[in-house]
Amino acid sequence: MATLTISGLNKTYGKKQALNDVNLDIADGEFFVMLGPSGAGKTTMLKSIAGLQEVDSGSVVIGGITMDDVEPYRRNVAMAFESYALYPQKTVFENLASPLRSGRTGKYSAADQQSRIDAVTTTLGINHLLQRLPKELSNGQRQRVALGRVLVRPADVYLLDEPLSHLDAKLRASMRAELKRLGQMSNTTSVYVTHDYQEALSLGDRIGILREGHLVQVGTPSDVWLRPVDTFVARSLGQPEMNVFDARFENGRVVDRAGLVSIEPAPSLGLVEGPKVRIGLRPSDIAVTPTPRPGHLHMKGRVQLVERLGRLVELSVVVGEEDIIVISDGEHPVAEHDEVLLQVSPHLVHIFEGTTDDPSAETLRIGAAQELTTAGVHHG
Ligand code: ADP
Ligand code: MG
Repeated sequence: MATLTISGLNKTYGKKQALNDVNLDIADGEFFVMLGPSGAGKTTMLKSIAGLQEVDSGSVVIGGITMDDVEPYRRNVAMAFESYALYPQKTVFENLASPLRSGRTGKYSAADQQSRIDAVTTTLGINHLLQRLPKELSNGQRQRVALGRVLVRPADVYLLDEPLSHLDAKLRASMRAELKRLGQMSNTTSVYVTHDYQEALSLGDRIGILREGHLVQVGTPSDVWLRPVDTFVARSLGQPEMNVFDARFENGRVVDRAGLVSIEPAPSLGLVEGPKVRIGLRPSDIAVTPTPRPGHLHMKGRVQLVERLGRLVELSVVVGEEDIIVISDGEHPVAEHDEVLLQVSPHLVHIFEGTTDDPSAETLRIGAAQELTTAGVHHG
């Protein structure tokens, strides 16, 4: 068990800056999730922590000890790679036992080995595979065994690189729940890398969102969900993505291009008047309503597409110049071509600075929805 501190970490491959001044403090026993699309620098981050590659600058401190000159095998971290390395000629049981038998990690009695292996195989649902060889396993099973090899031995820090990526959706969801239990049980400081926002939200004590080597935001799942710092973070979380559309901020009001949506943001946001503002609305935060509710944001639109997703219904609604996706609970049924009134609670309205034309659009600050003045939200 140990804290993990990363300061000023930079890593380039040729001209590509894979990590750009990353600073991060992870608490002892914390389960930290690093979320980002492919190429964001997630694997590079884990390898840097593990000492498996040289960094250009910056430092990694584990349990208060600077790791800069510490060999990887002495850092007492255990890393699960995306590509699973198993001994092909050994059974699953032998693959899981070997990390417990190797000289440096200490000697475990046969009974200790058995109980550690039991705990891990039960969590990972691979008890029935113990006598098989890797070639007799599916990709998903191999991935679980590889993860088991990491979790079976104690370490100061677990580094887990997309460990569920080869599982099908259903298994991934159930493994997620199991892993969470294992994390809580083991209480080992962990950095878990994924590109799956659901995994991040459900597993992370905190989440870090990585974009092109920059750690854009760090926070609890509800922090990053409710108060994304920019549209990149906002769009990284949630499916369908948050609706984001251009607006202008003039005469104290944020107004969409067609002039149908009008919001008065709280002065505390410090928004600068001008054409570079964007409004963000999550599909599941928008409701279809027959009667407007005072103090809420309203938009009139025409339904273009209705798609039932089971209990919920996904609507595509044209509001002025925008195509707005709505996830409706279906309480007020609508049909294609219907005119509808959409309603959003003011604290769920996000305001961002910047426009799509602005190259830095995705790195601008959000005006937190909570800071809207409710009274100022007008019907659109
Ligand atoms: P992620 O794990 O988030 O998908 P990576 O850390 O693997 O991202 O890669 C980050 C960036 O660094 C990518 O642009 C990738 O192409 C580049 N990169 C990673 N490893 C190497 C390498 N060994 N040589 C050259 N470029 C690399
Ligand atoms: Mg990777």
